[in-house]
Amino acid sequence: MKALILGGTIEARRLAGALGDIAVLSLAGTTEAPTSIPQRRGGFGGAEGLACYLQQENISALIDATHPFAAKISHNAAQAAKQADIPLLRLCRPAWPLDPAWQMVDDLAQAAAALPKGARVLLSVGSRSLQPFLPRPDLWFLSRSIEPAAKYPPHGASLLQRPPFSLAEEISLMKAHRITHLVSKNSGGRATKAKLEAAKALGIHILMVNRPQLPAVLEVATVAQAVNWVENQKGTP
Ligand code: NAP
Repeated sequence: MKALILGGTIEARRLAGALGDIAVLSLAGTTEAPTSIPQRRGGFGGAEGLACYLQQENISALIDATHPFAAKISHNAAQAAKQADIPLLRLCRPAWPLDPAWQMVDDLAQAAAALPKGARVLLSVGSRSLQPFLPRPDLWFLSRSIEPAAKYPPHGASLLQRPPFSLAEEISLMKAHRITHLVSKNSGGRATKAKLEAAKALGIHILMVNRPQLPAVLEVATVAQAVNWVENQKGTP
């Protein structure tokens, strides 16, 4: 059997490590690649391209372990698995439980529009998600991401850092930059959760972006569950 893992998350890397030889990890190629795990990089050319790849490479199971906000590839995965007639599993970490103190928004454009004039904002949404904030020269942004962004909002500073971050680090960062607002995607997981606790402790207003709608497919929350699912696929024709 041969499994393809669509990655870009820590869970995908762990799953690839756990499955060993039978798995290939696919990365969009936007961030630095981990070593020693069999992998391919770059887009497939839409759902059609992914379906062709699955057939050409004789893939017998597809695991979508992409980030919950990477909606396009998840839609492509659902379509391609159907087309190639192979089973699909989504491995997705649970969202953070909602806090009534959060201001919920449906996307980053809504978050950008909701920020009040003069706010000092910690933007922790990824280097490729800053575009909606560029037309707000009336705000000050601290943009934190793993990779540098192509363009930053006109006023502010940028930080290149890789999670995890501790509560003490987050409190000290927010205090040092006199942050008044935090914009976050509801990514879930432990690595970036401390920013929410730090913001709450400091009375910083949190704008939380809801997860996008993804296709309804079989889903598990943990790497162990995904490993079990792959094991079960080995017995099926
Ligand atoms: P996206 O909008 O869903 O995907 C854009 C295109 O990138 C897809 O159509 C596909 O190109 C290619 N692609 C995405 N993931 C791929 C993968 N694992 N292997 C091969 N091609 C892939 O995704 P995105 O939001 O730009 O995110 C890009 C990658 O970063 C994803 O793999 C995701 O897991 C990771 N990531 C995203 C976020 C986030 O907040 N969005 C956060 C952390 C990590 P083709 O159509 O040509 O196949």
